[in-house]
Formats: sequence, C-alpha cells, structure tokens
Amino acid sequence: MRIKEEPYYCESGKEKSVFEHCSKNKLPLLLKGPTGTGKSRFVEHMAYHLGRPIYTVACHEETSATDLLGRYIIQGGETVWIDGPLTKAVKEGAIIYLDEIAEARPDVIVAIHPLTDFRRTAYIDKLGVEIEAHEDFMFVASYNPGYQRGFKELKPSTRQRFVALSFDYPSEKLEAEIVMRESGVDAASAKKLTKLATKIRNLTELRLTETVSTRLLVDAAKLIAGDLPPRLATEVALVEPLTDDPHTLQALRDIMSVMI
Ligand code: ADP
Repeated sequence: MRIKEEPYYCESGKEKSVFEHCSKNKLPLLLKGPTGTGKSRFVEHMAYHLGRPIYTVACHEETSATDLLGRYIIQGGETVWIDGPLTKAVKEGAIIYLDEIAEARPDVIVAIHPLTDFRRTAYIDKLGVEIEAHEDFMFVASYNPGYQRGFKELKPSTRQRFVALSFDYPSEKLEAEIVMRESGVDAASAKKLTKLATKIRNLTELRLTETVSTRLLVDAAKLIAGDLPPRLATEVALVEPLTDDPHTLQALRDIMSVMI
C-alpha cells in the first residue's frame, strides 16, 4: 500500500534519523514499547517520507510463515500461487511492518532470519525458490517487552538481529499536543487528560496489565471534542478499557473525578 497523505507523527527523540540510517544501511529495525505509543504511526510516517509502499501485518498467535510468504489457492478450477505480504514487499522494495512479532508462530521467526542478515533473501519452501530482496526492501517489526506481565518474549538471538528503538509515553507537553492534533479537543481538556494519564501511569500499585496509552487519551479526547460530557467520555474511553477488576475500576474513577 502506498501512503498518499503525510501521516502526522510527533517525534520524541531521534527516531526519524535512526530509521533513515537503517534504511540506507539495509538494517532491520525493531520498535520496542507498550501498545498505543505511536509505533505504527511512526512507520507509516517514515514510509511516506521515504516514498516506499508499506505492508503491515498485525501478528497474532496463529500468524504463520505461510501467511507472510504466500500460498496456493484454487481459483476457477486452477491452482494459483498468491504472494503473501512479505514476498510482495521483498519483490517491490517496500517496507514490511510486522506488528507484535513475538506473538507470531515460531516458523515466522525461522522465515525472517535470512531477510534480517547479510543474505537479504526470502526462501519460499512451497515453491522451492529463493528471492533476493529489492534494494529498497526494509524490515521493521514491533514488540511489547512486557517482561513482568507474561507477554510473549522475543528470543535474544532474534532480538540481536535488529537495530532497536525504545518507544515510551511522550512527555506531558508533547502528549497534549498529540491529543489536540489528533482529536481537535481544546488545550485545557488535552492538558487535563495528559495529567490524569501521568497520574495513573505512576500508580504502579494499581497493577494494570497495560496502563493508559496515548491512543486511549486520543479516544477520550475525540468524544469530548464531539461534546460528550468530559467525565463520561473519560470513563468510557479511558477508565473502563483499562481493567475489569471492580476495585481497580473504582480507584480509577475516584482519581478521575478529582482531575476531570
Ligand atoms: P502502537 O503502534 O504503538 O500500538 P499507534 O501508532 O497505533 O500505536 O498509536 C496509537 C494512536 O496514538 C495513533 O493513532 C495516534 O492517534 C496516537 N499517537 C501516539 N503517539 C503518537 C505520536 N508520537 N505522534 C502522533 N500520534 C501519536
């Protein structure tokens, strides 16, 4: 897919420059960090700037090498081969973005190995062919290193194949800017939402599996910008999605009612 309009991305560090250098040096890039911190948006932004098509695959526990490389299908009584997104990216010189790569089946990791080192080739076992990657092909993956929370780990030997960038929640000032830009909410509401997020993120005793992401703030802000009362908007878009535990929910509501 080619991205036609520039996706808005607010840079926190030097990530754009790192991406460009990886692209120039044909190095695979791993984006590490919690969900909703702008990883996908960043890759789309960079694909636009580098003028490359992008193929995104949201990996889950059933994602297999076949899903990425391709498969035979029956079409009008004939068996035809259909390239998967990885094969398309390799041939066309696109960016492949494997979101949450650690969730995928182990054969995915095996399939990407020859693409993430000096070989830069894809081996399609079902066809018995090896394809050399196009000059402009770039491999990008993301993963959520939730080591304390029982998320799937990426093996160190796989991790070490990549240049890696850590993503985290932006500073309150940048986050308020993102929230305003993405939702059209006023500055005062954006500031309140980001302050609430910081407060919740610092309360580790709540033991949330995943804490407030920028995505949740943007969702709450969109509802507020659309005239839903701010407390109701924050409750449904930010508090409720965080947990199902009644005590934690009540604690979150209490904090919210003081701050919103
Ligand atoms: P991830 O891929 O890390 O799960 P996304 O890229 O999907 O997160 O980000 C979720 C949403 O949060 C985006 O759609 C966007 O509205 C917002 N967002 C988060 N960080 C940024 C950022 N740095 N610049 C612009 N938007 C951002």
